[in-house]
Amino acid sequence: MDLHSRWTHRWRNPKTDSFESPIHGLGVVANADIAKGEVVMVYGGIVVPRSEIREYRKEGGHAGIQLSEDFFMVPASREELQTEGIINHSCEPNFGFRSQIELVAIRDISKDEEVFLDYGFMETDFDSFECGCDSSACRGKVTPDDWKRKDLQDRFGDYFSPYLKTKFN
Ligand SMILES: [Zn+2]
Repeated sequence: MDLHSRWTHRWRNPKTDSFESPIHGLGVVANADIAKGEVVMVYGGIVVPRSEIREYRKEGGHAGIQLSEDFFMVPASREELQTEGIINHSCEPNFGFRSQIELVAIRDISKDEEVFLDYGFMETDFDSFECGCDSSACRGKVTPDDWKRKDLQDRFGDYFSPYLKTKFN
């Protein structure tokens, strides 16, 4: 029996749907209210060593999470990523890490709100990009060193990935 036909590599709260995001391409939106602390997403997938992550991204795109200095967990295919949901970045994220792979609502999320992560909380190996999130906290440019920012650590430190938290001073 192919267990993967019933259970997926990643779990996304049924109160969310994949949708055409007004911010960028596909995104994920709440179809019902989600309370602060509720699990929004549990990541899974295949494991790719950091030395090969850029090669993976040529095929798989920029997705998944960094587990440690040396490993990433990423979708097994483009199709999987699209089915299971692509999360957009915002400098005003509404969910973040509770454990290495579980992500929870940082605050109450209302029906019809898009769910956002701050990519700066997740990884240290990506190309900086111009942000169009339009939030008042927008950093303009998002860089792989943003996790070092004291203002972000003070505000959202609890929700950074456990891997990045180990790097805080
Ligand atoms: Zn922004």
